[in-house]
Amino acid sequence: MVSYMDYQLMAKLSEADGVSSEESEIAGIMAAAFKKAGLKTEIDNFGNVLAYKSIKEKPLILAAHMDEIGLMVKHIDEKGFIRFIKIGGIDDRTLMNQQVVFKAKHGPIYGVIGSKPPHIMKDEERKTVVDYRSMFIDVGANKAEEVRKMGIEIGSTATFPAGFHRMGKSMMCGKALDNRLGCYALLQLAKGLKPNVILVGTSQEEISTFGKGAMIASYHLEPRAFIAVDTTVAGDHPELKPDDAPIYLGKGPAICLVEAAGRGNISDKSLTKDILDIAKKAKIDIQLEVFEGGATDAASVYNIKGGIPSIAICIPTRYIHSTVSVAHEDDVESEIELLKRIAEVL
Ligand SMILES: [Zn+2]
Repeated sequence: MVSYMDYQLMAKLSEADGVSSEESEIAGIMAAAFKKAGLKTEIDNFGNVLAYKSIKEKPLILAAHMDEIGLMVKHIDEKGFIRFIKIGGIDDRTLMNQQVVFKAKHGPIYGVIGSKPPHIMKDEERKTVVDYRSMFIDVGANKAEEVRKMGIEIGSTATFPAGFHRMGKSMMCGKALDNRLGCYALLQLAKGLKPNVILVGTSQEEISTFGKGAMIASYHLEPRAFIAVDTTVAGDHPELKPDDAPIYLGKGPAICLVEAAGRGNISDKSLTKDILDIAKKAKIDIQLEVFEGGATDAASVYNIKGGIPSIAICIPTRYIHSTVSVAHEDDVESEIELLKRIAEVL
């Protein structure tokens, strides 16, 4: 198999900012890369990046959400401490004492999430999870005015500054691998893209139960089929049993048959069969997933315009929806190879 790995590009995508509704940096990187690959590229009213060679009726859409989980400023107190809301599904336990970074007017502003220290907690307090509403961000200011001068206002967003690194022989870690891995896969499909196939970097997937940007783009484009290119929970570590999340790193992309126990997308049967046949013919190992907990952009597309055949093909990723996650390059390579073949024949 040809290698599709370009770690420099992957690091750039992972480290770019793009909390839901603030996707301009990651969207700019995606649009420039699509253009460089010779595709017609546009950014729609909602911030979705669309790239294609040419479009006729009923195109095939391959979509990866560009946004990431993060925090948004809710209140700045007179001493300069910041209260925040969570953007996207974040487990409060992963937030304690993390570094955060705001992309402010004059450059990045770093902060630390603080809370009551364990030394002065009562015994029963120590055993309970600290709610994010009891945490605050400390940016090293003494007054609210100082925070504002840094360029941080109500509504400003922050991400987690985990750097991108390679791990072991063939793994990688970084922030926002959900879903910069998917964005990376789309960029690798750009060269030699067939007519009437559209690559879409979608906005605002994490912020809603289902993807807002994907729905808006698909309503407008009326595709013959929609494929969400995303990540999913890998359960191959000591704190999960095989039946909790039976998806493994290094064993290939996961085809999601059922999302959110059926509340999300249930993959179109005929589309699923076609994709399984393509994978088999190309000898690409895939994993089948029935997911109880989460959904993808496909969940906001299957039920519009009289029903659009939809499916999600996901890269297994450990620790998603935390400040840093881990993935395996073999899964990224196989995901791209499978998508390439799908884009050629479907
Ligand atoms: Zn995702």
